[in-house]
Amino acid sequence: MATLGNVKTDLAYQKCLSPACGTTYDVGEVRTACDRCGGLLDVAYDWDRLPVPDSLSWFERKWARRNEPLCRSGVWRFHELLPFAAPEKIVTIGEGQTPLHLTDGVGEYIGLDAGKLYLEYEGMNPSGSFKDNGMTAAFTHAHTIGAKRAACASTGNTSASLALYCCASKLMQAVIFIGSGKISYGKLSQALDYGALTVQIEGDFDDAMQRVREVSEQLGIYLVNSVNPFRLEGQKTIMFRVLESLDWEVPDWIVVPGGNLGNSSAFGKAFHELHELGLIDRMPRLAVINAAGADTLYELYENRGLRYNHGHPNTEVVDKYYAELDAAAAKADTIASAIEINRPVNLMKCIRALECCDGVVREVTDQEILDAKAQVGANGLGCEPASAASVAGAKMLREQGVIAPSDRVVCILTGHQLKDPTATVAYHTTDQDEFERVLGKRGVSRAAFANRAVKVANDLAEIVQAIQLNS
Ligand SMILES: *Cc1c(COP(=O)(O)O)cnc(C)c1O
Ligand SMILES: [Zn+2]
Repeated sequence: MATLGNVKTDLAYQKCLSPACGTTYDVGEVRTACDRCGGLLDVAYDWDRLPVPDSLSWFERKWARRNEPLCRSGVWRFHELLPFAAPEKIVTIGEGQTPLHLTDGVGEYIGLDAGKLYLEYEGMNPSGSFKDNGMTAAFTHAHTIGAKRAACASTGNTSASLALYCCASKLMQAVIFIGSGKISYGKLSQALDYGALTVQIEGDFDDAMQRVREVSEQLGIYLVNSVNPFRLEGQKTIMFRVLESLDWEVPDWIVVPGGNLGNSSAFGKAFHELHELGLIDRMPRLAVINAAGADTLYELYENRGLRYNHGHPNTEVVDKYYAELDAAAAKADTIASAIEINRPVNLMKCIRALECCDGVVREVTDQEILDAKAQVGANGLGCEPASAASVAGAKMLREQGVIAPSDRVVCILTGHQLKDPTATVAYHTTDQDEFERVLGKRGVSRAAFANRAVKVANDLAEIVQAIQLNS
């Protein structure tokens, strides 16, 4: 292992997902799809000729050198497992310092035995969501090929992350596309504060996504949406860190919210590669959780039988469903804005991940999401609504007997609590009108775990009495 640490980037390339096509492209090309068949691209490696450690615990040694930025980063500490970038081109802002918490209180809510439920707290990233894992990778690729502007469409967190990498590194200008109305203030405020050129178009996320692709193509702007295969390379490391925190033992379940399906796709790729490299000996199962108001994956996978079929997916099922969505002019609608997406761009990669990790998909209501979110908060780890879909989904799978009480389960908390304070305050509010205004129209009718503010006159005796009565 003498050559370890000398990552060779000439052994990385881009490869069409479809085995029937399999066209490869240079790692230095900027593409979001295969020229020949229009399919998604993977970043692939010539592993046989790359220096890969023979045990995952090798990576622990890098902790001793954590004063070096590339050892400190929770993404680049695993550089040997995403060796597409030259070390001197890597742009890191200290992403991936995220802890895995054993949280029995939430485990009990889900119905798991004590010591079985872990929450991976990705809200602790520099911009407050897991997106930084992918952004450092895509941004590094953009920098490598000399890009000066980078763009994305976003429900908020991708734009916050891109804006942060741009202003922290001063290497690029951020151009972000958002839909009208749906972005939370926490996220929008980040993009504005970090100085991104913010384009708010009339339409929803799916519309913004369509436009950003067209505009990037026309103006030659580097696109960092999750169609960008390099982002998924960075997101693989979330799983490496989960394993690291579990002393390199593979858990029984990984439960993750599904929006554009980049995370679930990246997780599947991570485990597949670790298995191929002989670094793990078993695969975890994967559960992807949709919001009921944005449930394309659930509908296709659980109800209409969409399967990857080892690279030969029955895509006609997808075309038919999208035609139905068009005919009904259906729009995604959920309080979990980060997963309010009807046309997930990584659908094919996600069903590949579901195949290799014996996966399941569930949908949970906004009510279930907010109740789960309140439980996460009450147990000391805040998250935004979309993140809590993982906890709500784990609870459902436990109730259905798919997850056993003794299974070791890791739920991914994708974004920080402060991203969307409006939803949190509305849930806990004493003001019924405010509750109805924000949550009622989503079909949320009760706040089972509300921690209501106590209203009291500005009078010392009454304040004292209120505290005595309530504590
Ligand atoms: C982006 C995002 C998601 C969805 O992740 P995908 O990879 O698009 O499926 C979930 N939660 C939060 C907080 C996000 O920012
Ligand atoms: Zn192709």
